[in-house]
Amino acid sequence: MKPILVKTANEMAKISREIKGTIGFVPTMGYLHEGHLSLVRVAKKETDVVVVSIFVNPSQFSPNEDLDEYPRDIDRDIRLLSELNANYIFLPTENEVYPDGYKTWVNVEKITQILCGKSRPTHFRGVTTVVAKLMNIIDPDFMYMGEKDFQQLVVLKQMVKDLNFRTKIIGCPIIRENDGLAMSSRNKYLSKQGRKNALCLQKSLLLAQKRYNEKVFTSNKIIAEIADLIENNKGVVDYIEIVDSYTLEHLYELKKGCRILVAAIIENTRLIDNIEIT
Ligand code: AMP
Repeated sequence: MKPILVKTANEMAKISREIKGTIGFVPTMGYLHEGHLSLVRVAKKETDVVVVSIFVNPSQFSPNEDLDEYPRDIDRDIRLLSELNANYIFLPTENEVYPDGYKTWVNVEKITQILCGKSRPTHFRGVTTVVAKLMNIIDPDFMYMGEKDFQQLVVLKQMVKDLNFRTKIIGCPIIRENDGLAMSSRNKYLSKQGRKNALCLQKSLLLAQKRYNEKVFTSNKIIAEIADLIENNKGVVDYIEIVDSYTLEHLYELKKGCRILVAAIIENTRLIDNIEIT
């Protein structure tokens, strides 16, 4: 069944209010891949009506980032979502989300200024603002998000708790290419060689798990090894952090259930990946 395309906030809100049953919501910036589609599949299984939004949100890009180059292919996205029987696609324009005179921002403090927030200080303010708006419009029962953007997941859970949204956020596992590279719309920017070098991100995380299994627990030791591996593959490290999965606080020693998060620039593309230590 072809999903119904909805362009305005008023129309989307009206439809959502009239839906009987549970609403599962998947926010995306489009150019969909298996990572996005995995979220839609889980939402289809767990809820009655699935709404997917496609909006390349300008406020989460800083002026020197890739907003203009960000890949887009709406027709293909619609086709993929039709195949999965998504019910509604919310496709607002920039002016619909941020009309002239727009002045309100949602900001989660502290945990948005570490990790990705260090090099992208205004990024999460853009994410929380747009997701808060989308949640107000759609009022979903469940929102499905990928662990690929692990900090985003923690930040949005904090926002939902602090602002008393009724929506429950469901974190879903990272979907990878056959060779282990975490799927991302930005992988498209990589050359053939860059694509090969990019495998060092997951390799370095698997190495950390191996060290943990060998009872090497010191974070600094493991971080240094990861940095070497990334640099040997022509990557420039943005950060490598070992953190508590709930608070994102730095851990001096690895423990079961902690997360290792890496961000590195390969060629000119900033890639992120993470692993839960088990
Ligand atoms: P984006 O379109 O990049 O904003 O991503 C939309 C949603 O898809 C977010 O919740 C992401 O975490 C999720 N996502 C992106 N890539 C993956 C992946 N490889 N595996 C699982 N979820 C993903």
